Amino acid sequence: MNATPADQSGNCPWCKHSSSKSVIGRDYNYSVSRSKYLYKRCNNCGWVWLTNQPDDLDKYYPARYFKTDQDQNNVAKLASVEQYKIDIVTRFKQSGNLLDIGPGAGGFIYLAQKCGFTVSAHEASEINAKWIASEFNVECITLIDLLEATHIENYFDVITMWHSAEHVELPVELIGKISRLLRIGGILVIASPNPQALQFRIFRGRWTHLDPPRHLNLIPINCLIESCQKFHLESTEVIWGDYSARGWNRFGWEQTLSHLTNNRSAEKLLFLLGTGIYGLCRSLEMRPLKGACYTAIFKRVEELN
Ligand SMILES: [Zn+2]
Repeated sequence: MNATPADQSGNCPWCKHSSSKSVIGRDYNYSVSRSKYLYKRCNNCGWVWLTNQPDDLDKYYPARYFKTDQDQNNVAKLASVEQYKIDIVTRFKQSGNLLDIGPGAGGFIYLAQKCGFTVSAHEASEINAKWIASEFNVECITLIDLLEATHIENYFDVITMWHSAEHVELPVELIGKISRLLRIGGILVIASPNPQALQFRIFRGRWTHLDPPRHLNLIPINCLIESCQKFHLESTEVIWGDYSARGWNRFGWEQTLSHLTNNRSAEKLLFLLGTGIYGLCRSLEMRPLKGACYTAIFKRVEELN
């Protein structure tokens, strides 16, 4: 295993402060390997990052991760649970060019196209990128173009990162690069796990949203907002209590608890226990900074006031 660039000094990749606390996790979600993964948490800003990223990270994204063995009818059916995403976007923009970074099984692309957006995508997995391009007839922008191409500067009205920022090795650098692709007035939507979450404090390395080794960075919302400001991205709204937040909170309790055992019967009982605890904590976890995940919306402005 190689250290990530952030680990060279052992200091926080964001504020460069020292870190003393660490969290050890395993791949409880997909069980690709039994290795231990060591995360550090910054003493100053709370950023959490993986220090022993595997060289062969691709193998930790098995086919079942992308759910690409589906036809269009199935896509429509599966996309219905992602309706909340297009509902968020259309509150700000109703049409135009949209770039989805990390489209997964393409549910959001399907909905955005249906809504009339001209959609492009960026998918890090080569196999999934090919599937997305042919299944939805969209242009899949390569990483090099995402970082360097000039023909797509000031081109997009909407850029979305639905739970993809945590998979990126250098997320702030990427956000800086994609900010130049947004038109003035365009919006950037970033949904990501919250390292200040109540569940993370309780479960630590067992927390399902830590998802080692796929999640390389858990970004505190304040760090994200401050970083975006540098790229003329003004924080417009941070959502903590909507349909998706509640869904991710519930998922966190159910999955984390059911992964505590390999016994099928005990697994089901623990899952139900998770559902019950989710219900009890529902109001608390809808408060700012408490929930498992946040959705942040930024607007590209000429200059920040
Ligand atoms: Zn820090």
